[in-house]
Amino acid sequence: MPVREAPDPVHQVVMNALGAFLASPPDGTPIEVVEALTLMGGNGSDPLPPRLFFEAVEQSPVAISITDPRATILYANRAFETLTGYDRQEVLGQNEAILSSNATPDSVYQHLWRTIQSKETWTGTLVNRTKQGGDYLAELIISPVLDRDGDLQYFLGMHRDVTKVHELEGALRQQKARIETVLDAAPVIVVLLDSKGRIILDNQEYKKLLGDLRGKEPAEVLRAAVSEQIGGDAFDACLNGCGFKDVEVSIEIPGGMGPRWFACSGTPVEETDASARSYFRRQASPDRRLLLLANEVTGRRREIDRAHLEHLRARLAEQQLMHGMREALAAAIYQIQVPLNVINAAATMLRGGAGNADTLAGMLDHISTSGEKALATLTSALPEEQREAGVMVNVNELLRQVLELETDRLLAAGIVVDWRPAHVLPELPGHKTQLRALFKHLIDNAIQSLCESGRAHRELRLTTRPVDGGVEVEIEDNGVGIPPEDRYRVFEPFSIGWRNRRGRAGMGLALSQEIVNAHGGGIEVDPGFSDGCRIRLSLTAVIADV
Ligand code: FAD
Repeated sequence: MPVREAPDPVHQVVMNALGAFLASPPDGTPIEVVEALTLMGGNGSDPLPPRLFFEAVEQSPVAISITDPRATILYANRAFETLTGYDRQEVLGQNEAILSSNATPDSVYQHLWRTIQSKETWTGTLVNRTKQGGDYLAELIISPVLDRDGDLQYFLGMHRDVTKVHELEGALRQQKARIETVLDAAPVIVVLLDSKGRIILDNQEYKKLLGDLRGKEPAEVLRAAVSEQIGGDAFDACLNGCGFKDVEVSIEIPGGMGPRWFACSGTPVEETDASARSYFRRQASPDRRLLLLANEVTGRRREIDRAHLEHLRARLAEQQLMHGMREALAAAIYQIQVPLNVINAAATMLRGGAGNADTLAGMLDHISTSGEKALATLTSALPEEQREAGVMVNVNELLRQVLELETDRLLAAGIVVDWRPAHVLPELPGHKTQLRALFKHLIDNAIQSLCESGRAHRELRLTTRPVDGGVEVEIEDNGVGIPPEDRYRVFEPFSIGWRNRRGRAGMGLALSQEIVNAHGGGIEVDPGFSDGCRIRLSLTAVIADV
């Protein structure tokens, strides 16, 4: 008669505990734990024989232990032995506290016990100590196992060593912190964008600019400016592998002291796939990122601008001198032409007359000839008006130059300037001198209007904005204003409405309209503005030869 082997008590504990656990896994047990243990026992419809189930638990790569409700170890598998360094016989009958190191805070244990005593699964991380005295980080799951009456019977503990993961995470955090420290110390704006333009990484300089732009995303503003400079969407081109280097752009900062200049470089960066699937295969289309560096060069640009402005001031003075000369000579020509015409008429009448009329006619002819000569000399002395080539112009830049040239007058008249340029404007083809003269004239008008108003608070507001196919400019003052009935008349030649007419010929707005028309735009007095005068003009990409 075959003798039946008495069941091993440890084996019995394992089978009881795991059977009861799998029959009703407690709340909070990770599903993968339930699945793994179920798998060890064979699937539900085809369970493994108990010995094989036991073997599967024994061989599991996860350290498994089963304790009584006071955490006294009743069973530990081979992985437990390997991980903790304790021989199974050494730990049976011992409390799990044998693994405790003094590096786990008491509050963690308290939470652990509160949870498992409420018959729920606890998951967390403890610092454990091996038999040899080495510390390791244990990712632990403790599940209570209940008897038929619902009372605590066992605790099932499963843990694995996650020290390496923690070390890697730590090294990664440290690396990131190092990179951030270096980036933050760099005096350059650095930002890494994903293919949708979202920010993955930025530095202090970037954040500073974000503050200056009052929350408007600098990456977007720089993108618009660089794209305007090189045509097409520069960032998209860069993400497709075509980077750009040292593209100098200017952006307007609200309430700032003029524009700020940045030399921008964009480099495409390929992000490698770190997922397990990519271990053997190269990623077909790696994720592209854009690394944008923007180096502020405002100081250097201001120096260049200052020199340019000096040059402009000198040119403007020269132009004004030439203009004065032309006017003086034209007036002289006109003044000589009138008596000359009279003399010529008189000579014609006298010729063929009686007495000394012929002699008189001869004398008049003589006067007329020398007069004609003087006229020819004066006409040839008339300086030629320079024809100006059309170039790409930035309206913000021109307006600012004129404002700077007018600074002394504005200060002397106590005018507060509210400069509201668009962050980025499209460049337009235009005649720089003409446009400067246009803006200067409109600002001069505003200054005179403010002075004539006698107002204490005098404000000049300049606004620019991009519009479809061009740029719109508003020049607004809270001065005397233009009556509605004069809205159109002011653009007619010789129309003067000023109280102080000195030095005014009434040609300014007529000429301004001509310049605007030559730039394919229009100019009007805004009828909807009543607190002074608002001139609104548009300039387009279409220019006529001036
Ligand atoms: P203790 O002074 O024994 O306990 C610290 C705090 O824990 C106490 O202040 C108290 O709030 C709480 N506490 C301890 N025992 C009980 C109890 N029986 N009932 C209620 N509250 C209690 N610990 C590890 O350090 N590493 C492990 O890998 C580990 N695995 C475990 C696996 C299982 C299945 C179980 C049930 C427990 C495990 N523990 C483990 C917890 C262990 O039993 C000890 O509670 C812990 O190690 C703290 O022991 P200690 O001697 O340092 O402090």
